[in-house]
Amino acid sequence: MAGEPQADCLFCKIVEGTIPATVVRETETTVAFRDINPQAPTHVLVIPKAHYRDAATLAAADPQLTADVLRETAEVAAEDKVDATGYRVVFNTGAGAGQTVFHAHAHVLGGRGLEWPPG
Ligand code: 5GP
Ligand code: ZN
Repeated sequence: MAGEPQADCLFCKIVEGTIPATVVRETETTVAFRDINPQAPTHVLVIPKAHYRDAATLAAADPQLTADVLRETAEVAAEDKVDATGYRVVFNTGAGAGQTVFHAHAHVLGGRGLEWPPG
């Protein structure tokens, strides 16, 4: 069923607490934790607690939850003090774009110069 936890999903296990993570923020609907392989001084992943395979599926299924995730990216940036200097929010969508974990997540990247266009 849409949004139900998936037994083989790494990020569902982080939501459940069976795999540890450095959690920086949690709300009723979302969790934010530091990326295990950071690509910038601030590299935090914001995920919905409910399982959706990617951002497009999440957006189609639950606009409020999508907004919750986006709002939390701003809260993370403010808490890490990268909001004033600028930061990037990325949803890799599909393997061809580099998505490796198929539980929707926003990357929040900041604390260094970020090139545009990205690679
Ligand atoms: P994607 O490539 O799917 O857009 O992003 C997945 C991200 O999850 C990667 O940046 C990767 O470093 C991160 N990641 C993978 N496994 C773990 C883990 O067990 N813990 C944490 N905190 N991050 C992880
Ligand atoms: Zn999941």
